[in-house]
Amino acid sequence: MKYVLNPLNYPYNALEPHIDELTMTIHHTKHHQGYVNNLNAALEKHPELHYDNLETLLLEIDKLPFDIQTAVKNNGGGTFNHNLFFDTLKLNENGLPSGALLSEIVLTFGSFESFKDAFSNAAKTRFGSGWAWLIKNHKGALEVVSTPNQDPVLNLGTPLLGLDVWEHAYYLKYQNRRPDYVENFFHVIDWDKVSQRFLKK
Ligand code: MN
Repeated sequence: MKYVLNPLNYPYNALEPHIDELTMTIHHTKHHQGYVNNLNAALEKHPELHYDNLETLLLEIDKLPFDIQTAVKNNGGGTFNHNLFFDTLKLNENGLPSGALLSEIVLTFGSFESFKDAFSNAAKTRFGSGWAWLIKNHKGALEVVSTPNQDPVLNLGTPLLGLDVWEHAYYLKYQNRRPDYVENFFHVIDWDKVSQRFLKK
């Protein structure tokens, strides 16, 4: 099967001024689309493979033919990571998580501010390109982690929230000021979506 680019459920300017329209447009139509295209191109080399679930594919990269393992890791990871990223964005006007998710964040990190510090620190200190994540790890606990490049995060646990810190995600507006981008990310987290993931997994 072919993977397709997930459409956004909001316009490209919906996250202004924190993430600008041009960055969103290029990020989705060029970068995200590129990962999808390159994933399909890799899988076309082995038509005998039948994966209809991206998560399963990423968890079983080691079982794939060796010649496409790296391409699937980079581009399958890129497809998955961006699917999650774009799905979890919404202008929130300083909104915070609520309910069971907020309780678990406070229980785990001590306070929402402590969680924010840990997540921001992971995003700011990721050297080069990569991601910061809030995951539910294999023990069922919340954890902040960081991954390089487009490496899949699924082997560490279930991702609930991810922040893309590749320069393509922020450079047009923020240039070298990654910390400002990270700070403003907290204005565009769709906490309802994060909460849904938390309750489901
Ligand atoms: Mn990206």
